[in-house]
Amino acid sequence: MSDSYTFANHGFSQFGFWYVFFLGIMVGSFLNVVIYRLPKALFGDDSTTEDQTSRSVFSCLIHPGSITPCCHQKIAWFDNIPLFSWLRLKGKCRFCAAPISPRYFVVELVTGMSFAWAYFHFGQTWTTLFYCLLLAILISLFWIDLETFYLPDYLTYSALWLGLLGSALGIIHINPINSILGACGGYLLPWSVNYLYWLWRKRDGFGGGDFKLLAVFGAWLGFSAIMPILAIASLLGLVSTGLLMLIRKEKLSLERMLPFGPFLIMAGSYLMMYGTPTWFFH
Ligand SMILES: [Zn+2]
Repeated sequence: MSDSYTFANHGFSQFGFWYVFFLGIMVGSFLNVVIYRLPKALFGDDSTTEDQTSRSVFSCLIHPGSITPCCHQKIAWFDNIPLFSWLRLKGKCRFCAAPISPRYFVVELVTGMSFAWAYFHFGQTWTTLFYCLLLAILISLFWIDLETFYLPDYLTYSALWLGLLGSALGIIHINPINSILGACGGYLLPWSVNYLYWLWRKRDGFGGGDFKLLAVFGAWLGFSAIMPILAIASLLGLVSTGLLMLIRKEKLSLERMLPFGPFLIMAGSYLMMYGTPTWFFH
């Protein structure tokens, strides 16, 4: 093992690393439930819960127990083991053989890896806990936006307040003033771009959820991160839209073909892990 494994100053251990990795996989299993059920609990379109109007969003997330989305059968514990069960069932439902989205497997693995990344960098500290919470929220937002074109305020506001609180308490390594400026700038910059677009085309270029998501990254990474994130996300979005148009061989509207949130999350996570790319300022 190299020296980079010895983070003794804030309590890093190999046991802790694997513990956090497996904890992340379990949390990822819960995030799959959040991704599937939270939009349904918020929109009210739901066949898995009977009377969601009189129930809190949280109770919609935990009741009823696990059932298959395809044929509404109860899932036994041995078919609900993170990573393992999806592989053993070869991505197919035990009851009706309908394909189970690879998302279930990917979310569990990525959450485990993200938590391990946080522990690797921040060791046994509050900082690790705050980053794990942020990463769990970002992973949920990524898939919810991809599947429903919607970024729930529940999640964006939680991540935003977590960032402001973390910087005020000195838990995340950013000056509180910079965090507040980043949050305001992250919201106002895309808002003003959108306003200009609206004056020109008389419709929205991107949604309000995107502004709040950029405000989250502003609060966590500071004011200077906003422009690079917006630029990298736009570039990724443009390239992906172009590729998709080539593959599907049809002309699709640029505006509402792909949600913008996942690109913001990819760009923001890149900056979180590697800092601002040097080529950005050349
Ligand atoms: Zn089924």
